[in-house]
Amino acid sequence: MEKEMRVRFAPSPTGPFHIGGARSALFNWLLAKRMGGKFVLRIEDTDRKRSTPESEENIKAALKWLGITWDEGADVGGPYGPYHQMERLDIYKKYTDQLLKEGKAYYCYCTPEELEEERQALLKDCKMPRYMGKCRHLTEEQKAQYEKEGRKPSIRLKVPENETIVVHDMVRGDVEFDSNGIGDFVIVKSDGIPTYNYAVVIDDYLMHITHVIRAEEHLSNTPRQLLVYEALGFEKPVFAHISLILGTDHTKMSKRHGATSVDAYRQQGYLPEGIDNFLALLGWAPQGEEEIFSMEEACKVFSMDRVAKNPAVFDIKKLNWINSQHIRKLTPDAFFELAKPFMVKAGYMTGDETGEKLDWLKRVVATAQTQVDYGAQVPEKVALYFTDDFDFENEEAVSVLKEETVPLVMKALIEGFHSLDELNHDSVKGVFKAVQKGNKLKGQQVYMPFRVALTGNQHGPELAEMIPLLGADRVEKRIMKSLEKAHVSL
Ligand code: GLU
Repeated sequence: MEKEMRVRFAPSPTGPFHIGGARSALFNWLLAKRMGGKFVLRIEDTDRKRSTPESEENIKAALKWLGITWDEGADVGGPYGPYHQMERLDIYKKYTDQLLKEGKAYYCYCTPEELEEERQALLKDCKMPRYMGKCRHLTEEQKAQYEKEGRKPSIRLKVPENETIVVHDMVRGDVEFDSNGIGDFVIVKSDGIPTYNYAVVIDDYLMHITHVIRAEEHLSNTPRQLLVYEALGFEKPVFAHISLILGTDHTKMSKRHGATSVDAYRQQGYLPEGIDNFLALLGWAPQGEEEIFSMEEACKVFSMDRVAKNPAVFDIKKLNWINSQHIRKLTPDAFFELAKPFMVKAGYMTGDETGEKLDWLKRVVATAQTQVDYGAQVPEKVALYFTDDFDFENEEAVSVLKEETVPLVMKALIEGFHSLDELNHDSVKGVFKAVQKGNKLKGQQVYMPFRVALTGNQHGPELAEMIPLLGADRVEKRIMKSLEKAHVSL
């Protein structure tokens, strides 16, 4: 029987949850869903100075928001826990004792100053800086002497010399590393806490992880991890390192290219389905041309053989377009809910509205659904419904109002709207048509000046949509004010 696929996402809770981390989590999740496997969430909290509970909470909340759920791990438990590395120190210790006993690891008493000295000396000789094994063969007396001096040892793994270490990578093929460039590296720090490259191996092994899928940044760590697998005699998982994320200028993605944390996008009113869709395309491509899909659709077709080797480019324009497509798919109520916090922040509503006022707000907000890429853009798109003060966009707009036929058109339209029992899309259109036909005018001569007088702009939302929302009185007020400003008398 085929072994069940087990993947993991193993964030370090040391700061904001980045888009890159979310992409790694998503690829693992999609693969697990596709293969009917398990997705494990392990918290790598061994960096005591930088790890915080807030960051962990933030990561978990962001994963949930994105719909990336875990079958085992932090909070939910599972058969191979605990799932926080700081709760696994006893487990690591057992293996460390074994490595020490077998002579595969040793105590190192070098101080940070001594290590730095060695580093500088190697650099000066144009050699790769690495630990040269000073403490590899200490006698019991030397050790005792160091202990007496109060030095606290770290523990290093013995790295074989002159060996080629090959990472078999699902995405990148075989990648070779020279063991001489590595040097005996620390597996347990002097405070007794294991290093990432050590703990990750023990955890992945004990948690029965079959596929380690992570960002390319970790590729250079993998040979070290392979050495730990060898030393402990563990069976190795399959590795896949997914490409770097670059900005549109092809330098490493950073704040200059747009927000890098998932939270920032959430706060701007992006949709999880938009972010997921965009992240899935950062390094993976489904067969065919379709670029808009849901998580359910993606996990039916996701496969590692369509994951690209070359860097993925984070293009905010593309994200915006993808998100706008998902926004268009929302029900009007869901879109209203997305827009609400931004409308409240803009002072356009309190959030406690009911009855007619609420209905009106919903209709107003609905006009923005096809115009925005994300929620925070809604207020600017509906601002015209909340204030009757506006300026003409430019001189050209003013000149539109100077046409000879303008007074006649304005008067006829205002009267027409006042005479209607109900202002709606069709009845308003009817008035425009009647005024145009009745005076033998071109559409341009009717719609354009009215639009400018009503909004100050030559372009904007459909008039037949706006006018019913403003009502005949407000329409008249706005028109009269504009004409006065442009020195046009009726
Ligand atoms: N804690 C590591 C990180 O957040 C995990 C890397 C890995 O997936 O092995 O980068």
